Amino acid sequence: MLLKKHYINTPLFPSPSLKSKYGLNVIYKMECYQPSGSFKIRGMDHFLKEIYSQGYKKVIASSGGNAGYSLAYVGNKMGIKVQIIVPESTSEYMINKIKLLGAEVLIYGKDFDEANAYAIQLSKESDLPFVSPFDHPLLWQGHSTLIDECAAELKEPDRIIVAVGGGGLLCGIFEGLVRNNWLNTKVVTAETEGAASFAKSKLENKLITLSEINTIATSLGAKKITPKALEYASSFNVETYVTNDSVAFTACKDFFDEYHVLVEPACGAALSYLKAKHNEIYSNENILVIVCGGVNMGMEKYLEYAEKFK
Ligand SMILES: *Cc1c(COP(=O)(O)O)cnc(C)c1O
Repeated sequence: MLLKKHYINTPLFPSPSLKSKYGLNVIYKMECYQPSGSFKIRGMDHFLKEIYSQGYKKVIASSGGNAGYSLAYVGNKMGIKVQIIVPESTSEYMINKIKLLGAEVLIYGKDFDEANAYAIQLSKESDLPFVSPFDHPLLWQGHSTLIDECAAELKEPDRIIVAVGGGGLLCGIFEGLVRNNWLNTKVVTAETEGAASFAKSKLENKLITLSEINTIATSLGAKKITPKALEYASSFNVETYVTNDSVAFTACKDFFDEYHVLVEPACGAALSYLKAKHNEIYSNENILVIVCGGVNMGMEKYLEYAEKFK
């Protein structure tokens, strides 16, 4: 049976604002327009199709963020039951959004690692597939389709800017770049100081586990990246960029003023690179920014941060 795809082919939009302010040629890949508000839907769609073809009718996952939300969205469409274990720190806002899509939410543990470990245990006990928010080849394969879409419309960019949490999106980007023979593109990874697990690992060329996560860019909050991200990175020209919460938030504000979409600070981290580093970019470079999106910051949260960072 041919299964329908649940994500959309997102548009590529230029940035007249960054052109006029800094003379930069920037194209935005608008993943914020996905029905679940982020690129995560690509990986989840790909993963659940595989699960479905194996005959499973239920999965167990561990993310109270965009991964859980996208999984709930696709599960709902495909008629696969989704149980999501989230830590006590998860916002009421996200729990309610995920429940609205028909998923079952169980609160367990004080942080992501505890919830994640419990989700893995439950999946083993019940012999059901476990869905990681970032650490699975099927997710990377799904995410990589976004580069295929870019390659159908653009020539190879000089730089691509991508936010990194656990590195699932980054692995998908690397796979897409290889498949489309975009091997000279410089890959800029964006993180915030309180979640810079990729930048630290890249610097020391080994996997570093952060002792804590301390950032408003919660979607970047993986203490440890997937080993594959570091492995792929060794065969690309990679620049690590680390910013702070205030700068990431301001970039969300600027992006809203340009395209009227509210994205998360995780996405703001990537967007902020252009303003922060415009002096280091040649005016003839073509830059592709993955506007990864995110639904974690609603209007109330936005107003709270606007007050905090003013
Ligand atoms: C998940 C997510 C990220 C980070 O993706 P990883 O695959 O964990 O590296 C960045 N931004 C948004 C909006 C996300 O949902």
